[in-house]
Amino acid sequence: MNPVNLLDFDLDALTAWCGELGEKRFRAVQLFRWIHQKGESDFARMSDLAKSLRGKLAGAAMVQPLQVISEQASSDGTIKWLFDVGGGNAVESVFIPEDDRGTLCVSSQAGCAVGCRFCSTGHQGFSRNLSTGEILAQLWFAEHHLRTRLALPAGERAITNVVMMGMGEPLQNYSALVPALRVMLDDHGYGLSRRRVTVSTSGVVPMIERLQADCPVAMAVSLHAPTDGLRDQLVPLNRKYPLAELLSACRAYLSAAPRDFITFEYCMLDGVNDSPAQAQQLIDLVSGRGGQPRVPCKFNLIPFNPFPASGLKRSPRDRVMAFAKVLQDAGIVTTVRKTRGDDIDAACGQLAGEVQDRTNAQNRLTRPVIRIEAS
Ligand code: SF4
Repeated sequence: MNPVNLLDFDLDALTAWCGELGEKRFRAVQLFRWIHQKGESDFARMSDLAKSLRGKLAGAAMVQPLQVISEQASSDGTIKWLFDVGGGNAVESVFIPEDDRGTLCVSSQAGCAVGCRFCSTGHQGFSRNLSTGEILAQLWFAEHHLRTRLALPAGERAITNVVMMGMGEPLQNYSALVPALRVMLDDHGYGLSRRRVTVSTSGVVPMIERLQADCPVAMAVSLHAPTDGLRDQLVPLNRKYPLAELLSACRAYLSAAPRDFITFEYCMLDGVNDSPAQAQQLIDLVSGRGGQPRVPCKFNLIPFNPFPASGLKRSPRDRVMAFAKVLQDAGIVTTVRKTRGDDIDAACGQLAGEVQDRTNAQNRLTRPVIRIEAS
């Protein structure tokens, strides 16, 4: 029998598994803390575990790390790791240090089936979902590697925030995502507050509703367009879950969310979605004109990172700032994302990895689209 990967378990699942070995919950808690808080993978070194339990674990279980294929460190401190997930697939994680926090951007899938037009990962197609253990192995590695590398004092965390914004649509890998989130939040695990863990979605409406019930954390929504006509072209999932449904799910989510706003991500595409008139359409959309209630929100404007197959260009800086001003003048908190790790292709939408294209996404998306007209 193959050993069980203990990174696949949240604390309840580990407790149940230990129960099958005849062990009590406090033993599962000890084991969980060794793995996630101390970064230990060798059961023999888990000194306060009963010898009998260590004996049972040997051969029956393992802590399965991901193999690091490469690491790139940017001059601004950003670090990008490429991890091997087998079968010719790789995923990326990015550490973004700031004065008061360390954020890890985590991948949830090898590739992505959503196929957003401006996204390098989307152009790679979809290979497979990551397991809970593969999602957590990115955090496990980064946290414990960085503690040593940055020579952090005992008890200080390297990762204070996690954003599920790497490769993949996390809500299309829901059953693996939720246990991973629980480990991030667990005081015996990484102990992150719900406000410091963000799930970013392109708008999988039914799963937004489920996350609200199962494990509400901060939410970011990739909006990118003020109308269904344009969003259908930029974020194909919009054809299934159009804006009215998405915004309604966002409003409902806020009743359980740890923050009282949704962050809308908006990738600024030259001549496509960046006019002052479109900023005004966005205001109308979120402020409830047209009969729908308002959606409390912030906007994060993202400079596009061009890649040849997209046929799209980055909006000029003055146009981005003018767009931001229209939103700000309407009282909507709006930030323009700093580009980090530009020199190592770690910026948003550039996490491509080495994903096998099993959905022919290259052919579907590599059309000579230079300009997409707003409807
Ligand atoms: S932006 Fe997100 S949802 Fe869209 S293709 Fe890229 S990874 Fe997938």
